Formats: sequence, structure tokens, C-alpha cells
Amino acid sequence: MEFILLILLVIVVLLVIALIRTLLVGNKETFYEYSTDQERIDLYSDKLSKLIQYETISYRDKPDVEKFRGFHKVIENLYPNVFKHLEKIEIDGNLMMKWKGTDPTLDPIILISHQDVVEATGEWIYPPFSGTIADGKVWGRGAGDIKVGIMSFYQAVEELLIEGYTPKCDVYLGSSCTEEIGGDGALKMADWFKERGINLYLLSDEGGSIVSDPIVGIKGNFAAIGIFEKGYGDLKIIAKSSGGHSSTPPKNSPIARLAKFVNYIEINNPFKVRFSAAVDAMLTNLAPYSSNFMLKFIMSNLWLFKPVLKLILPAISPHAAAMLQTTICFTMAKGSEGYNVIPQEAYVTANLRYIPHQSTDEANKIVTEIAKKYDLEVETIIAGYPSKPLDLKGPQYNMIVDTINKVFPGVGIMPYVVTGGTDSRFFAEVCDNCVRFAPVNYTAEQLKGMHGLNENIDQGCLPMAVDWYKELIKAQERR
Ligand SMILES: [Zn+2]
Repeated sequence: MEFILLILLVIVVLLVIALIRTLLVGNKETFYEYSTDQERIDLYSDKLSKLIQYETISYRDKPDVEKFRGFHKVIENLYPNVFKHLEKIEIDGNLMMKWKGTDPTLDPIILISHQDVVEATGEWIYPPFSGTIADGKVWGRGAGDIKVGIMSFYQAVEELLIEGYTPKCDVYLGSSCTEEIGGDGALKMADWFKERGINLYLLSDEGGSIVSDPIVGIKGNFAAIGIFEKGYGDLKIIAKSSGGHSSTPPKNSPIARLAKFVNYIEINNPFKVRFSAAVDAMLTNLAPYSSNFMLKFIMSNLWLFKPVLKLILPAISPHAAAMLQTTICFTMAKGSEGYNVIPQEAYVTANLRYIPHQSTDEANKIVTEIAKKYDLEVETIIAGYPSKPLDLKGPQYNMIVDTINKVFPGVGIMPYVVTGGTDSRFFAEVCDNCVRFAPVNYTAEQLKGMHGLNENIDQGCLPMAVDWYKELIKAQERR
């Protein structure tokens, strides 16, 4: 009896502490407004439109360096001062511009944004390479992903040059032409720095952005700052047999073994769920913005509710699951060539996205061990590694938050995990601090448009994007 009372007392004390913490978190609301500077909006929209009109689709099997050199001409025409004052470095269609700073002892920064886009098939409202400006938006392939980045940081440097500004550290602008095909354009740029023994202080790339209503129960606009990106892997899981005729089927034929394996993995998620510092910070930062008391109560007290959240979150949201663990998804399958032929070899492929706490080698080992139980072999096709997380207490992160607060006052700050891939991963050897944040906003519909139909971006967010890059360059003075 006394024991039960003691347990009850502990629970009450914990809940009271949690309640006090929740009340201390307070209430916050976000504020975000588009620019109304029509002159700048028109100028930037027109430049972005011109970048879109020059088609820059990249193809895995036929690299076309000349096409990208043509695109460099388009950029040069739009930003003559940048090309007049900065040093141009071109490596196989990948473009870098170097702006010399006043203090050679400081490590440089690089702003990157890829030149290439994916194909644009299907029925579009406006032709994908028309760069149509209508309904308050700039339309076309690359509008959001991510020629808007090129437009914004080239424009930022163009304006700073016109103002007579010289940066404190060297500033590089970089654009690969192979991002969409997972090519090595960014690696070639990173190698350029490596060969010269140059270490980068900060890299800024796509990945996060200003997002609206990020999770159920949280309303408002938040700067989602990508803290790290997951590693990319492809595995081929192979079942072998001596083949034979399907009229006399054996037990455990290759496809049956593969089916059991796939089924096992999907039901018994074999990967560890864990809250990284980025996810912790994301939920804690969002807590004051919750209008739902229960949600706020839980988010303000992760120390108490994490075990429950670990169980619930992956089950209710694939997005949450992807941020908390390594994931595996089966993508291709092949059996024999005939309807009535038992395959001598059948396979499925699996795409994995590795999280730092259970990274590539460990995750692949787990899959291989399970495969063995079903008499399957595993071949590694690609095994990439997750990137190093940005230090949430480091000066680079603080610098990013400061510039966001300055250009987007009232927007909430939300560190988060980039589950897709970006070019920044190739810079790991020359830069410890890669930030994945594009200073523009996308609605859920606009996010679908990237790689899909009717890609577009709102014109009203363009001036702030230019301002953010200007602020980031100026922020180097305070290092
Ligand atoms: Zn992209």
C-alpha cells in the first residue's frame, strides 16, 4: 500500500514539474509578411524568369558541359558586375565565382545552389521553360528547386558591389550542374578547395526553407534550418536457386524467400528510433507556438515523454519516422524472364537513408544478417554516409539564426533533419559547418511541384531572399 502511494506521489510530482515547465514556456505567435517593394519584386522575378527560360536538365548518361556554359552566359548577362569583379572558376560546367575579402586570415564562406533541373513532362498550366510571371508567382522548372537560389545570391553580390562593398572574408558562389543526377559536380568544386588546402568556415545550400504549419497543432511560419542530411544507400538483395519448371514448384523458391524477407523488414522495423539533438531542438523550439495545451505539455517536457513519443511518432507519421531513424524502402524487383520459369536468380533493391546514430555500416549489417536467415545475399550498390550535424551551440548556427531574425523578424526557428540529399554532402572534407536553408518559402503545394507539375515560387518572397544573402555576407564582419 505504501509502495503504491509512493509511486503515485512520484507521478504527481513529475506532472507538477511538467506543468510548471509548460507554463514557463509561454505563448508565441509567428509573423511573416511578403515584401511590397514592387520595383524589386519585378526586377527579381524577371531575372528568375530568364534563368528558368534557359533549360538546364541534367542527364545521367549524357553530360552536356556546353549547355551549362551557355547557362553561365545567361547568368553573366544578368549580373555583369559579379562577372566583372569576381574571379570565375569553371570546372566541367560547374561554376564558381570568387570574391576576394579584405582579411586573408579568415576562412572563406561559400553559397551554393545547383544549376541543373529535372525533366518536365506532363500537362503544365504554363509551359515549364516559359518562366511565366502570373498570379503573383514565377512559374517553371527550377523556380523553386533551385534557380531561385542562384538568382538571389548573385543578386545580393551584384547589389553589394554596386554599393561599393567589399567582404571581410573571401566569398565563393558555387553551382554544380549534376545535383539532380547525384553526380560529382559538387565534389569537383570541393576538391578544388581541398587541393589548395582551403578550409571553409560555412557553407549555405538548399535543404530547409521557410515553411508554414510544420506539424499538426503548430500554426505559423518557421525557418526550417537543415542541421544535417541523412546518408544515401542502395542495396540489392539476391535469391538464388537452380531454377526449374513452374509446374513442379519447390518449397522456398527465390521469390517466396524475397517476399518473406521484405515482409519481415516492413513489419519488424529493425532500426533504432532515437531523438537527435536536431529533433530535440525542433520540438522544444516549436512548443511555445502550440495552441493545443496537451501538445505543448508534451513538447515542453521531452525529458518525460520521449519514450512514449518514440513509440507513437514513427507509427503515425512517415516524416517523423524518417527524422528519427534509418529507413529502408524496397524499390525494384526482378524474377525470371518467363511466366512459367522459376528464376535462377531473383532480386529486390532497397533504398536506405542512414541516420548518424545508426549509420551505414551498422544498418547494412543488420539488413545482411536478416537476409541470411532467408538464404539471401546482399550486394551493396551505393553506401553513402550521413553528414556531420551542425553544432547548435556553434557560432555558425548562431550566425544563421541572427540573419534569419534580422530579415524575417517574427518567424519561428526550427532546426530539422534533411531526409533527402543535397550537394553540400560533398563538401564534408573541406567544411564542418554546412547549413541547409534556402531563404524562401514554399507551400505544401509548391513542394509537390518540385520534380512534379507546375513548379512555381511566390514573387513576394524574392526580396527577402536577396536580403538574407546580403546579411549573411555582412555577418562575416562580426567574426
Ligand atoms: Zn535541389
